[in-house]
Amino acid sequence: MSDRPVYRIATIPGDGVGPEVVAAACRVVDAAGERFAFEVDWSEHAAGGAAIDAYGVAIRDEDVAACGAADAILLGAVGGPKWDDPKAAVRPEQALFRLRGALGLFANLRPVTVHPTIAASAAPVRAELLEGVDLLIVRELTGGLYFGARTEATGAPGERHASDTLPYSESEIRRVVRLAFELARSRRGRLTSVDKANVLATSRLWRTVVEEMRSEYPDVEVGHQLVDSCAMLLIKQPAQFDVLVTENLFGDILSDEAGVLAGSLGMLPSASLGERRTAYGTFGLYEPIHGSAPDIAGQDRANPIGTILSAAMLLRLSLGRPDAADAIEAAVDAALDAGWRTGDIAAAGQPDERLEVVGTTALASAVVNALAAGAAASVPA
Ligand code: NAD
Repeated sequence: MSDRPVYRIATIPGDGVGPEVVAAACRVVDAAGERFAFEVDWSEHAAGGAAIDAYGVAIRDEDVAACGAADAILLGAVGGPKWDDPKAAVRPEQALFRLRGALGLFANLRPVTVHPTIAASAAPVRAELLEGVDLLIVRELTGGLYFGARTEATGAPGERHASDTLPYSESEIRRVVRLAFELARSRRGRLTSVDKANVLATSRLWRTVVEEMRSEYPDVEVGHQLVDSCAMLLIKQPAQFDVLVTENLFGDILSDEAGVLAGSLGMLPSASLGERRTAYGTFGLYEPIHGSAPDIAGQDRANPIGTILSAAMLLRLSLGRPDAADAIEAAVDAALDAGWRTGDIAAAGQPDERLEVVGTTALASAVVNALAAGAAASVPA
């Protein structure tokens, strides 16, 4: 019998390009297993539109339970025009809320780094502003405006009224801020807490809790930033940030904005974590930040890098395998350095003739080859 460790990863390919990018990332993880002597026991689960079509629900109870019993979850994306009616009782994104709620995933981590050759070509922000960008947004995921009491529009036309509320408890704030302090400590030691404390009561509570906790982390430099000025600084001086922590709505908006820095939505990974420990690390759900990209689904055109880098985060945080995670990240860099590109990151009029625009499968193969070789990927022929 093999004495290699066997990790249990639940996959949720989902809809649109989801199955394509998840398949690409699974190939890369299996290649990492070959190199670092571990095995993966994969299980696949339906969620989103795929589950609505097959079972009439966004995700079945048994799939939530099976995902919770795994060591980690790798998800593609859910949703698409077929299921987009906002008034429908059953909607694809309910699967995500279900998983977050049932599995206690309260913090969303979005690291943003910019590959130098992409900064010089595909990114919409000037290359000199992108030098040294290496930031991590920690977004609270289960509280605030999206979960507060609301009233839908009522009243006569011209006088209609609707409301949403933004509640936060001290414990909800404390647990996500603690995670952010720990992450800042493991990086460059700088934490920026983002709020709107000049207006919102919940932001003032948020800021008070951060201040109360800073004495526990004397090695972490703490700053507070109002969300409106933070939105501006993320584009004007992104390299100044290390870890940012913020509530649900602000995090939703700022993390998409920060995604622009990397040149394409297809480049960025994310992790959703809770407090539950597994045998190897912290249980989590990992997914690229992009959606199901229905406009390019089924055409082998999706950039798989966001999902491959999500798998690297999974290996590092949930499986305690920084060796394999580092190697996957290095293999992605090597494939990009060698000129492999999907269409979204191949800038128009690209002067470098070494650049080769390829599909999802071929880019994943370039990463697999670089990983197996433990060295730079081959230059496209
Ligand atoms: P999207 O991220 O799917 O696509 C936006 C644009 O980016 C499209 O032009 C798409 O082709 C491109 N794109 C996205 N990922 C790419 C990749 N990997 N490689 C190359 N190009 C890529 O956002 P959208 O169009 O607003 O949403 C489409 C569907 O996805 C909707 O149903 C939405 O609800 C859903 N969605 C799901 C998630 C999730 O599952 N977490 C997140 C966002 C959106």
